[in-house]
Amino acid sequence: MPTSRPDLALIASRLSSPPVTRYAPSPTGYLHLGHVVNAIYVWGIARALKGRVVLRIEDHDRIRSRPAFENALLDDLEWLGFSADSGHVPVNRQSDRHPTFEQALEALRDAHQVYACACSRKDIGGERYPNTCRQSRLEERAGRGVRVAIDAGEERFIDGLLGPQRQSPADDSGDLLLRDRDGHWTYQFAVTVDDMRDGITLIIRGADLLSSTARQMRLARMLGRAEPPLYVHHPLILKPTGEKLSKSSGDTGVRELRAAGLTAADVIGRAAAAVGLLATARPICADAVTELF
Ligand SMILES: [Zn+2]
Repeated sequence: MPTSRPDLALIASRLSSPPVTRYAPSPTGYLHLGHVVNAIYVWGIARALKGRVVLRIEDHDRIRSRPAFENALLDDLEWLGFSADSGHVPVNRQSDRHPTFEQALEALRDAHQVYACACSRKDIGGERYPNTCRQSRLEERAGRGVRVAIDAGEERFIDGLLGPQRQSPADDSGDLLLRDRDGHWTYQFAVTVDDMRDGITLIIRGADLLSSTARQMRLARMLGRAEPPLYVHHPLILKPTGEKLSKSSGDTGVRELRAAGLTAADVIGRAAAAVGLLATARPICADAVTELF
């Protein structure tokens, strides 16, 4: 198993003050062990470095987000014993920030090429957008997305767990979609703006998001952020088939494990063992996860 532990000395040396990190679940399903793993890393690293945790509900996906899932995840988080330093009361929701996203879009327009895009996902086909509409000067209107032109060039960064990384956002993703054809802010844009607004200096998340890091760093720079946040990408729990856990994984759902009589410490211990933070599962409370680092 690859290393599970971040280099805390490295992270601390690159921050001028204790980190501000965030726990940002999406209310599109119930919490499962994968979310518990992320909470262990977020709270464990933040507490070890005397930092703060901001809670944010990432409900930018207006189609799949549900208030019932939000209530359930807040309840599960409380049951597990992970309490945020801010963002809990009142709940800090991405969907309440429409004016902030509008302002950020206007700020981008002032200094960069922002343009309408008529392409559907099917038109684009693969992962990278070939900048089809960049020179088309289409009018912005309902049914069209909005993109920002991304210049060539690499972004280099040192991941607090995975070490030195280099990515080229223009080659990897092409011009970034900020608002989709249905008028919804995209994940890449919303998360970058929110991290700036919340003053996040350390982002701790699963390794499945590693490939989107450079585009978020670039977007942050384009929005005027002088110093991009630091990143830690941690291992994910994989199913025996090698796939990521999904919110429909019944056997790993926090609700199901609670109902089966496990304690919060049992659930946290099971998640920690699944990514190699413990050699074998043993109960560990949320308040003690710093010991794992
Ligand atoms: Zn297009």
